[in-house]
Amino acid sequence: MQIQDINQYKDIWVFAEQRQGKITPVVIELLGEGKKLANVKGVSLNAILLGKDVKNLASELIAYGAEKVYIADDALLENYTTDAYAKVIVDSINEIKPEIVLLGATNIGRDLAPRIASRLNTGLTADCTKLEIDEEDGKIKQTRPAFGGNIMATIICPDVRPQMSTVRPGVMDKAERDDSRVGEVIELNYDLKESDIRTKVIEIVKSAHEKVSLTDANIIVSGGKGLGNAEGFKVIEELASKLGGVVGSSRAAVDAGWIDRSHQVGQTGVTVKPNLYVACGISGAIQHLAGMKESDIIVAINKDPDAPIFNVADYGIVGDLYKVIPEIIEALDSI
Ligand code: FAD
Repeated sequence: MQIQDINQYKDIWVFAEQRQGKITPVVIELLGEGKKLANVKGVSLNAILLGKDVKNLASELIAYGAEKVYIADDALLENYTTDAYAKVIVDSINEIKPEIVLLGATNIGRDLAPRIASRLNTGLTADCTKLEIDEEDGKIKQTRPAFGGNIMATIICPDVRPQMSTVRPGVMDKAERDDSRVGEVIELNYDLKESDIRTKVIEIVKSAHEKVSLTDANIIVSGGKGLGNAEGFKVIEELASKLGGVVGSSRAAVDAGWIDRSHQVGQTGVTVKPNLYVACGISGAIQHLAGMKESDIIVAINKDPDAPIFNVADYGIVGDLYKVIPEIIEALDSI
């Protein structure tokens, strides 16, 4: 095995995931967090962007704080495939040697990051909710929920590079956009052939369920097992639409088959930070709280006064949601 000189590794990279020519929102969060880490370490924050006809996205990444954008613009990278993306990124990491590589814990990031880490024989901490630089040794401290969310584990990478993390969408603050920022766009050198790619994307079909953008929503009204049945989501939808928000749910409601998984908030769902989160018939299990407790204002409606959700709620209403919600809707109608 080749001995690695870890001192050659420098700078922080963010994988600039894009879909159909649009930067995925978590990338903006990674750039925000990456900037803080880069400032502590005194290194530069760069992005790596892959795709076809994506050069126009480089200026957006620079506006959000990337100092250099490494780019591979190639017809073979038009659609995400693990083989092609992993090959280009692994070759580029071996050549340019970033010290820290951050990816979003999206479907693509969760597929790509372990492949890259295993090819590079390095460590990966998946699904991080907090990143810090250790002031003593400059290593990145990566925190993530463990043991079903009952503890938070802080993990460091042994003496191999790069140190890699995937980060949950919706947890970190977004970078501020500043279009006056200037940066460098660098074309990557790589050797990618059609024969390197063992899968072929024939068609992209959108999910039959309309995907909700919980991470971008300012107002979320969530329903849980306390709804009693799938029909109960009608009253949740009505309140959400009156407030101009979107519908979320607990995992128990998803597991019961009452609502699509894309609505699930929590440790194994989406992490959200809206201005207003209304939890209806949700007990407040630790795994649910992990995904919503950072919301600005939490309102809980639950018939059990001892439900743990009230411990994190700013406003609590003890009562039957089927009585309380129609009253709220009526009050909103009369405004
Ligand atoms: P329950 O705990 O059954 O609570 C229902 C609540 O409704 C009760 O508090 C009850 O008092 C109230 N209620 C009943 N009827 C009414 C009524 N008419 N009016 C008002 N209130 C009423 N859960 C998540 O949500 N998200 C996750 O991402 C997630 N990930 C998990 C990961 C792991 C590894 C594990 C082990 C679990 C995970 N869970 C997750 C599940 C979690 O532990 C809980 O089981 C789940 O959150 C409970 O959902 P709930 O609050 O809707 O249901």
